This record gives sequence, C-alpha cells and structure tokens, in this order.
Amino acid sequence: MTVGILALQGAFAEHESSLDKLGVEHFEIRQKKDLQRPFDALILPGGESTVMGKLLHESGMLEVVRQKILDGMPVFGTCAGLILLAKEVEEDTAYLKTMDIRVKRNAYGRQLGSFYTEQEFDGIGRVPMAFIRAPYISEVYGEAKILAQVDGNIVAARQDNQLVTAFHPEVTDDLRIHRYFLNMIDS
Ligand code: GLN
Repeated sequence: MTVGILALQGAFAEHESSLDKLGVEHFEIRQKKDLQRPFDALILPGGESTVMGKLLHESGMLEVVRQKILDGMPVFGTCAGLILLAKEVEEDTAYLKTMDIRVKRNAYGRQLGSFYTEQEFDGIGRVPMAFIRAPYISEVYGEAKILAQVDGNIVAARQDNQLVTAFHPEVTDDLRIHRYFLNMIDS
C-alpha cells in the first residue's frame, strides 16, 4: 500500500512521520508528473488552503486530483486539506469541490485560532485534537456524515472515500485516525 502526500506547502512532513510510525509507504506529490506514479490513497495536509489551491490550479493538478477522488481514491484532508475538498467555502473560493460540506475558514477568531482538546470521534473514542487557525464545518449535507464535534461545531466528517478533520492528528502521537483512514483503503 502506498500513500501519496500532497507536498506543495504546509504540514506534509508530519503526515510522513505518522505513516512512518505505521510502517506505510508514501511519497510526496509536488508536480503533475508525480500523479502518474501508482498510489492507493491521498493525503491533503494542513497549511494555507488559498496557496495550495492556487498551486494545484496553476500546475494543472487540480483536475487530475479531483478525478481520482471522484473515481473513488481514499483521501484524507486535514485542516487546509479539508477546505480544499469542500463543495462550499463561506465567503471564499472552493477548490476540489468533491465533498458535501460547507466550511468556514479561520472559524474560531484570532485569539482562539489555535487550541487543544480531547473529544469523541465516532467509532474510535476520545482522541486528542490540535487546532491551528482551524476551519469548522458549518453544514454537512448529501452523503457526508458527522464524525466529531467540539462545542457544537463539526470538526470531522466522512463521505464514502473522503475523510476530513479540522484538527491535526499528525501533530499528536495518536495514530488512530491515520489507522482509520488506512482501513478505508481496504474497504
Ligand atoms: N487557516 C488555514 C486556511 O484557511 C488552515 C490552517 C491549517 O491548515 N492549519 O487555509
């Protein structure tokens, strides 16, 4: 099993180290030709969604990635990666538009932009959640299902082959959400 990690910008190295701990092969996707390598699943890391979205578009990768997701490739978007997958971004641009969610960027204001908590994650139990200038999901519709909430805000969701978290499991030692994602590859 090989996971491609989008490495245009942002926190891709942290996902690499989570996958290393799980003994899963991975490689960095930096340019369009990298998408021709065979891989079984894709991670879209945190970072700055506007920058990643612009680079995806300019490099001609946006449509290729979008098609892979629509064809069923498992994808895990954390934070900015969640924003990239959303069909709707409040008062902002949407990019891949594959997931039935509306999101609000930088949703917790300047002061509360970064915080840590532990909450229930559907099917896993309590997990540590690190938020860094995070979005939240203001609405799920269609096929998307809520997996976790913090103070009434939706912070994780799944729609078939697509998994998103507004927080960063890759910056904690807890590997259960990555494991949950890897199980989506087999099923
Ligand atoms: N604030 C960033 C954005 O809007 C997301 C932050 C993150 O990925 N840690 O794209």
